[in-house]
Amino acid sequence: TQELHIIGGGLAGSEAAWQAAEAGVPVVLHEMRPQVGTFAHQTGNFAEMVCSNSFRSDDDERNAVGLLHWEMAAAGGLIMEMARQHRLPAGGALAVDREAFSQAVTDRLRAHPLISVAEGEVTELPRDGHWIVATGPLTSGALADSIRAETGAESLAFFDAIAPIVYTESIDMSVAWRQSRYDKGETEEEQKAYLNCPMTKPQYEAFIDALLAADKTEFHDGETAKYFDGCLPIEVMAERGRETLRHGPMKPVGLTNAHKPEEKAYAVVQLRRDNALGTLYNIVGFQTKMKYGAQASVFRMIPGLENASFARLGGIHRNTFINSPTLLDVQMRMRARPNIRFAGQITGVEGYVESASMGLLAGRMAAAEIKGSDLPPPPFTTAMGALINHITGGAEAKTFQPMNVNFGLFPPLEEARGGRKGRKDRYKGYTDRAKEDFAQWLAAQS
Ligand code: FAD
Repeated sequence: TQELHIIGGGLAGSEAAWQAAEAGVPVVLHEMRPQVGTFAHQTGNFAEMVCSNSFRSDDDERNAVGLLHWEMAAAGGLIMEMARQHRLPAGGALAVDREAFSQAVTDRLRAHPLISVAEGEVTELPRDGHWIVATGPLTSGALADSIRAETGAESLAFFDAIAPIVYTESIDMSVAWRQSRYDKGETEEEQKAYLNCPMTKPQYEAFIDALLAADKTEFHDGETAKYFDGCLPIEVMAERGRETLRHGPMKPVGLTNAHKPEEKAYAVVQLRRDNALGTLYNIVGFQTKMKYGAQASVFRMIPGLENASFARLGGIHRNTFINSPTLLDVQMRMRARPNIRFAGQITGVEGYVESASMGLLAGRMAAAEIKGSDLPPPPFTTAMGALINHITGGAEAKTFQPMNVNFGLFPPLEEARGGRKGRKDRYKGYTDRAKEDFAQWLAAQS
């Protein structure tokens, strides 16, 4: 049998290696650590969790990530099995002892008779053979350059930019008002989903000056930022022209100031509800790499936000990911180089569990292909199917952004399954349907 090469022994690469080897395909797992490190990884072990130690909700009846746990376990996933073995008490969440967990994954992979480990950095997209690239959000610079040369600069992003979040109670509602642009929405709640802060021309001009002058976070290692156009930091938009924001996220159209209906605002800042309780609002389109101190003072120039307190300031973090909707087919293969699959966070899914689940699929698909058959993706009614559908076709390519699994990615529920019921029943309907469909998909492979 031909062998499968996997680049990156993270959450996705480890699961991919396990799945392919369990299917009887020899695997070479290439990992650059410990020789070459990243700023976040601390060890040379596989499947290192770089930040939180949680796989999030373990509720497989009413939660999409819990459902993903269930599907991965049903498919014999190594990551889930080891996570459960090393779980820590954490209410409804699946938290793990991270060191014991990644050590256990490492031991199992190294002990597998069909897996060999090749230590060292892979610096170029390989030409021949079967490969899975699972190098994650911190893909090494040389390999990222090689990917970019193949995909075009437009299709590889290096950063995520995050918009700031404000406590609702700190917003001055004698200035701001509730309204969706053009009163869009079916219910009154939706028609009033946004909070709007108006600006006069002098206020707008002063705001643009402050944005341009503010201290920005610098990039290291000679890196230059590459964002997708749908997610430019506001100061970058302002640099493109003083009017850019007024024609973009701050456009004043479709809105009437509830306090002063006769006054036409020159620009409007919109805030969108950020949690179910309505206690937090994020400033729409205000992703930024301004330094924290500068952000607080610049954003408090916005009328209505003079006394804003921030639950989270905007930020920017390293996240290498490709524009999967344009680059990958439903088999997660590069259209232009079908001997190469991508898996994990680099495909534009977000999170440990999502990444591992895409590794699981890529490993199974590659193994099937090597053995001479074609494994169709799971139905889009399942959590894994919904994710793969999102990244390989469902998402808008122009504004493609990293995505967590959520029920919004699932096809609507038939009425018989509770499609018209309240949210809790609907969620149960989604997970029931997903489990049946996932089990059938698995059974068809045996
Ligand atoms: P990784 O787990 O990063 O694995 C990629 C592997 O590839 C690494 O082992 C790396 O060393 C290796 N590699 C890279 N380049 C090469 C190369 N050229 N040759 C050989 N090997 C290479 N997700 C959460 O769910 N919760 C969190 O709290 C969280 N916090 C995060 C904090 C930070 C700072 C970052 C960067 C990410 C965070 N994430 C978090 C996202 C998390 O990284 C991913 O969800 C998950 O690790 C992605 O799995 P992966 O397998 O795609 O990538």
